[in-house]
Amino acid sequence: MTKIIDPYGSELVEDYTKIIKDFGLEIFDDKIFSNPNRIMRRNVVFAGRDLKIISKAIHEKKPFYALSGIMPTSDTFHFGNKMVVENLRYFQELGAKTFILIADLEAAAARGVSIEEGRKRALEFHIPGYIALGLDPKKTVFYFQSENKEVMQFGYRAAKKITLNEFKAIYGNADPGRIMSAVTQVGDILFPQFDERMPGIIPVGIDQDPHIRLTRDVVNRMKSEKFFAPSSLYHKYTSSLDGSMKMSKSKPESCITVPEDVVSACKKLKKALTGGRETVDDQRKKGGQPEKCMVFEMHKQHLIEKDSYLQKIHDDCKSGAMLCGECKNIACEKMNKFMIDFNNKLLLARKNIKQLKFVEF
Ligand code: SF4
Repeated sequence: MTKIIDPYGSELVEDYTKIIKDFGLEIFDDKIFSNPNRIMRRNVVFAGRDLKIISKAIHEKKPFYALSGIMPTSDTFHFGNKMVVENLRYFQELGAKTFILIADLEAAAARGVSIEEGRKRALEFHIPGYIALGLDPKKTVFYFQSENKEVMQFGYRAAKKITLNEFKAIYGNADPGRIMSAVTQVGDILFPQFDERMPGIIPVGIDQDPHIRLTRDVVNRMKSEKFFAPSSLYHKYTSSLDGSMKMSKSKPESCITVPEDVVSACKKLKKALTGGRETVDDQRKKGGQPEKCMVFEMHKQHLIEKDSYLQKIHDDCKSGAMLCGECKNIACEKMNKFMIDFNNKLLLARKNIKQLKFVEF
């Protein structure tokens, strides 16, 4: 039976190969795009849907869009947000019209955050935070779900195209708030096509796939309207520092948030599960196991930009030339730099918040 991945829950994905098969995804091959970004090259991006259509649009310089949503619930990000922004930025640089929706209605329905509070949090943290993570504000259009009547109206139409059983099969259950949020998301995903039909790419974590599947089903049932079914791109989770699959704020000792005080982040890195051996002698002799190491995972996914440097860390670990203490110090230093850079950019983006482009309704 296909495992239900629930965007509102905290399911773990133990086997990406199985997910690819069960969900009918394409295995991601970084040759599909020119100059793939760091996480594409390193197989952190592992799957997608309908990527050829995006590659063709890029190649032929035809319009296409990239879209992502922010749910303004907490006051920190996780590293998955960083990967979404890296992928958005990649397509933005290749000409994608870029949209960020603030899922304030969803935050209210799923997490009980009032619309006012959601708006405040989005303006003070989430939007400037995405800019600090690399989104180009000059090339991005933002909107609040609660202000977008077109999206809500489309949600009602989408709701008529699906049955309760189909909804349950995709999401696992079907409470009224969840149904409202999901059909609104269908409107969000297609919103950039309301005026002009064009392909679109949605970079997401695998837990968001139900929204993509639902939207694709709705598009299939509205054939006469000629929407493009959304393409999507999936990245792996950033592992928890204790070795479980996904960093979760419910285990604060193994989860580094963005931003986080660097002393605390470094302390966590130093306690992380590594692929090191029991004794120094053993490690010198046998070498470490970067493939089992959470510090290496952080290097690979987030901290080391240059491929040649990452390779060196890998090789020095394997040969026993580098020990875990030194490797963790490199991680701390890189984490420190990242947090300082993020905080500086966040402050700057906050100051310039009035210059952003919001969709006018
Ligand atoms: Fe991990 Fe680095 Fe130790 Fe290797 S040397 S096991 S990559 S912490």
